Amino acid sequence: MSRERLYRSQAIVLRRQDYGEADRILTLYTREHGKVNAIAKGVRRITSRKSGHVELFTQGQLLLAKGRSLDVLTQADTIEPFAALREDLVRTTYAYHVAELVDRLTEEGSPSPAVFDLLAGAMTALCEAEDPSLVARYFELRLLGLSGYRPQLFSCVVCGEALGEAGNAFSPEAGGAACPRHASQLGDAIALDASAFRVLRFLQTRDWVMASRIDLKPSTRGALERVMHAYLRHLLERDLHATGFLRSLRSAIPHITEDPRS
Ligand SMILES: [Zn+2]
Repeated sequence: MSRERLYRSQAIVLRRQDYGEADRILTLYTREHGKVNAIAKGVRRITSRKSGHVELFTQGQLLLAKGRSLDVLTQADTIEPFAALREDLVRTTYAYHVAELVDRLTEEGSPSPAVFDLLAGAMTALCEAEDPSLVARYFELRLLGLSGYRPQLFSCVVCGEALGEAGNAFSPEAGGAACPRHASQLGDAIALDASAFRVLRFLQTRDWVMASRIDLKPSTRGALERVMHAYLRHLLERDLHATGFLRSLRSAIPHITEDPRS
């Protein structure tokens, strides 16, 4: 294997899938190269020295070799095991959600160190936060901003006027909030009370040190989850259709099919 095909990168394991007898295919988010799919050969054998370093959600320093379709993991060292994410079912669920969003909202070949740092920060915060839902909402708003889907929360999506705090509604289709005058014009608008709206804006504009001090009322927590999930579902369903189209295109034109065995 020639030297120039090797590269070193910090990475977090987003997803893993058993492959063949003892291998695993890993979906990684790397700091320097963005999203990468790599094969970890022999990693399911108990004698594997790499296996413990590429557990789900683990942050490691990896040495990878460029491959034709999949890169090959050649060496792995743990930086942060984030063990708490695998020991507590609630935290595990949130970590899956965070990892899935990074996987779904990023493309291979478009690296973003900011996305990596946000992801690493979210995994750190999920290990210790009293309210993991707050970490998730902060993460979602920031990731959407970095991915070009920043929800519009400061001016009405219909008339453009500055929004007050009360009587607004959020429209996933329009990608933001509408003023009380125009909320009823948007068929998919979800009503937002003043405290939920205030928290959304706060999470979108402050850093995590500030945001982590918020103590959410259960009703506000529920409202934030409804709004963010509706918006994400809208974006990802649109994305799913695009992916479905790509898949049918690939089967129509066999030579662009990615085959992990090649
Ligand atoms: Zn308006």
